[in-house]
Amino acid sequence: MARAVLALNAGSSSIKFALFRLVPPAAPALACQGEVDGIGTAPRFRARDPAGLVLAEQSWPAGAGRTHEQLLGGLLDFAEHHLGTDKLAGIGHRIVHGGQDFFRPVRLTPAVLAALETLVPLAPLHQPHNLAPVRVLAASHPDLPQVACFDTGFHHTMAPLATRFALPRALHDQGVRRYGFHGLSYEFIAGALRARLPALAAGRVVAAHLGNGASLCAMADGRSVDTTMGFTALEGLMMGTRCGAIDPGVLLYLQQQRGMTVQAVEDLLYHRSGLLGVSGLSNDMRTLLASDDPHAAEAVALFAYRIARETAALAGTLGGLDGFVFTAGIGAHAPPVRAAVCARLGWLGVELDPAANARGAGRISTAASRVAVHVIPTDEEAMIARHTEATLDG
Ligand code: AMP
Repeated sequence: MARAVLALNAGSSSIKFALFRLVPPAAPALACQGEVDGIGTAPRFRARDPAGLVLAEQSWPAGAGRTHEQLLGGLLDFAEHHLGTDKLAGIGHRIVHGGQDFFRPVRLTPAVLAALETLVPLAPLHQPHNLAPVRVLAASHPDLPQVACFDTGFHHTMAPLATRFALPRALHDQGVRRYGFHGLSYEFIAGALRARLPALAAGRVVAAHLGNGASLCAMADGRSVDTTMGFTALEGLMMGTRCGAIDPGVLLYLQQQRGMTVQAVEDLLYHRSGLLGVSGLSNDMRTLLASDDPHAAEAVALFAYRIARETAALAGTLGGLDGFVFTAGIGAHAPPVRAAVCARLGWLGVELDPAANARGAGRISTAASRVAVHVIPTDEEAMIARHTEATLDG
């Protein structure tokens, strides 16, 4: 009988999951993965095998009133049924914010859960949704260990200077500082580099997690030294619907002169800006790349411009650049975006190989390129599974 862990990544209306069998000393082996989405409206459950074949699918009409509890219960029943005689040993959660105190993965005891609840104001759009399933499962499956894996954790190695805003010291001491996110993704990339390209992993690398959320991480010898997201997941790059870095004076102007409420500004910054706001069309890069609307083209161009600008800043922090890694939905699948970014980084020593970029796997820079550019698909769920196994057995 093998043991297994379930990795959960819960958002406001969806829960992504991946079930892994533990096969030590090898890394956990994916058994199946999928998602429950449409939570709160018309929920849909889907599970696929590692090759992408649909194993199970179920949907409920709007108004069927499926609660979070019922949907999670159904997901656990599916996992246990899928495992047969193998046993679910624990559940690992992606938790967006660990604050100042939590950076290593940790068992979710009532005390830890209470401490993580106090961080909700730091990530009001993510943390409550990350924690909700923990509470539900603690009540329904009290004997099943649960582990928190933090998106901020990988950035714990940032130097104090990189964590500071130029605000009064007392605010920093109260937690108003830069934390960084997408840490599970960057940790996976750092591990993949160490395994496949150890010389590059030991050098100065910028990794670009370009999905609906987007950020960059500067890594030296596989450790985070700086990143573009800060106090919240709003800072830094332009994203699907988030604005990224913005003059804070704009926020004052919108509220003081244009009479916008705090809620309206929050909605603008998180849900109506970025690729969607600039294109006026979509937050989906596929739609923008397929469009001949000049506003769509401008949104894509601005996305690449901002990435190149922030990369240059991080190369300055690193004292040079040896490697650049593209990952996540856009990074792994959008050759025109990669080409636009690389074209702006020529002065840093990036030389793209167009044929390799079109193929989109492994090294996509020329042999002569001073900076080695790679495409590496990320796997945050695999990282959660590894951490959960180590925490359960630690
Ligand atoms: P993620 O948040 O990592 O799932 O990434 C979502 C983003 O990746 C969306 O903007 C998608 O349009 C984009 N994406 C996914 N597949 C492709 C593709 N084949 N070409 C361009 N963009 C893609």
